[in-house]
Amino acid sequence: MHEFSTAVGIVNAVKRAAGSHKATRVIAIRLQIGPLSMLNHEQLLFGIEIASKGTILEGAEVSIETLTIKTTCKNCGTETVIREEKPVYDLLVTLVCPECGSKNVEIIQGRECIIKDIKAVIDSD
Ligand SMILES: [Zn+2]
Repeated sequence: MHEFSTAVGIVNAVKRAAGSHKATRVIAIRLQIGPLSMLNHEQLLFGIEIASKGTILEGAEVSIETLTIKTTCKNCGTETVIREEKPVYDLLVTLVCPECGSKNVEIIQGRECIIKDIKAVIDSD
């Protein structure tokens, strides 16, 4: 299960980051996820909840921001932002540069799974 291993990776990364700042409790985590990461957000949130049990992340509020897909044309250099509501597999077969019509288009954003922000309580004694 793709989501659960990703969730464990996120929990471990947040634990490491929080630990290096001597945080005692994580309150909130903000994630940025690209549509092409193929992650189901509900399953990911559920996975994080499970993987957080018994750690300083337990009970943290997790929010997910969806990134747009950005492409660059290797023929003319045009960057395009795709606000796609169609299913992703549909999009992948129809990637064409709107400027020159080339199909030599590279995806430069949309596959990410980024931990954007961590809000934590730091013990100050
Ligand atoms: Zn082009």
